[in-house]
Amino acid sequence: MSKFDYDLFVIGAGSGGVRAARTAANLGAKVGVAEGRFYGGTCVNVGCVPKKLYVYASDFAHRFAEARGFGHQLHERSFDWGTLKAAKDKEISRLNGIYERLLENSGVDRHWGYAKFVDAHTLDVEGKQVTAKNIIIATGGTPMMPTIPGGEHIKQSDDMFTLESLPKSVLVIGGGYIALEFAGIFNGLGVETHLVHRGDHVLRGFDEDVRPFVQDQVANRGINLHMSRTVESVEKQADNRLLVRLNSGETLTVDDIFSATGRLPNTGNLELEKLGIKTTSRGAIEVNEHYQVAEHSHIFAVGDVIDRIALTPVALAEGMFVANMLFGSSARRVNYNAVASAVFSQPEVATCGATESQARHQHVHVDVYESKFRPMSHTLSGNPEQCYMKLVVDRATQQVLGAHMVGEHAAEIMQGIAIAIQMGATKQQFDATIGIHPSAAEEFVTMRTPRD
Ligand code: NDP
Repeated sequence: MSKFDYDLFVIGAGSGGVRAARTAANLGAKVGVAEGRFYGGTCVNVGCVPKKLYVYASDFAHRFAEARGFGHQLHERSFDWGTLKAAKDKEISRLNGIYERLLENSGVDRHWGYAKFVDAHTLDVEGKQVTAKNIIIATGGTPMMPTIPGGEHIKQSDDMFTLESLPKSVLVIGGGYIALEFAGIFNGLGVETHLVHRGDHVLRGFDEDVRPFVQDQVANRGINLHMSRTVESVEKQADNRLLVRLNSGETLTVDDIFSATGRLPNTGNLELEKLGIKTTSRGAIEVNEHYQVAEHSHIFAVGDVIDRIALTPVALAEGMFVANMLFGSSARRVNYNAVASAVFSQPEVATCGATESQARHQHVHVDVYESKFRPMSHTLSGNPEQCYMKLVVDRATQQVLGAHMVGEHAAEIMQGIAIAIQMGATKQQFDATIGIHPSAAEEFVTMRTPRD
């Protein structure tokens, strides 16, 4: 009989934690998990899922406008935030229940509360001590808030999902995933939307052609972009509106402000220092290729808390790897090469593999194929929006190194392209693929002439 309560204890029941716990339990391990906020973590509760539901809601507004070009007359359109929020809340609580039942049905013991280390094998969960042979830290991340005068009037991204009424005007700070997604949601729902970003282009790290392109498209949809600006201060006025001073000397007056200036790993309350576990300057846990911390080989960390790639599918893969490595007969290593991702801005951005500049650093000659076109639906909708696609190809081997897209359904299209890129497909194999006509996606297999 084991001297520990558990073979594995997982701290945090988000994407990575739940997957690790379930996988280990299904492999016969005795598993416990601690969660103090909600089952399913950020993705299910205050991230991917509710965000995408709000994006769908917002997108209808654009569709209604475009429908006129196809002969539809839509009279007396109205939108009720309360209906949307209630429907979203209902769906999220349904998913919470599913996540909890997934754990229950796998035989995982659930401990409600936050865990902290007592010693290398003992955790305290809200006053109750548990011991475990192995421990996985899967505590995720938390929004990073700007420290500026009046910062207490700024909401964080989690607050988007508890918002009881829709503001008339809003400012979003940041130029990353969340900023573009939130600005798109508000803008589509008819809110006067401003976005302030410290850089001259949004989405740092994305392909250099994609960045200005998506910026033009979201501005075209009505988002007021204030680039190369920072927020210096916020003051609440007598009418409860917020006066925002920018470093440029300009001012904006809005009803609400949301910060989307990045997220930090959640390690503050774990008492890692008791075990000598070091964290980076951002608070991330450093792990080796087996997700073990250097100081204790039985303690692992996966997901946003290790600050590698903060995406749900990556956390799932990491959690599954550790569980399989500990209790299974084989474990598939997480392939960080060409991880596809999408920004659910309106229009969407999707990307997989190398940007052009990354490819040029790694390869002598790089060919770039690109296409910019007006999607067919917009020939009648009247929407001047354009779609952009780009393939980055190593000239010597003809391998497709990266694919990038800005346009409707970019995420859905990129998932298939990502398989080809993972498999090392060449440009000739793309060319030999017959397109689906008429679709935007077929452009990815019909671009024939490299850019000069
Ligand atoms: P990002 O890192 O994507 O963006 C943060 C933005 O805030 C950047 O534009 C950054 O500017 C800016 N910024 C950072 N610090 C400051 C500051 N002090 N003052 C002003 N601006 C600042 O973070 P997000 O919060 O948007 O998202 C966090 C992560 O979550 C993402 O990186 C992604 O991994 C994941 N995510 C994924 C989604 C998806 O898959 N669709 C959706 C949402 C989140 P600069 O570029 O100059 O550094």
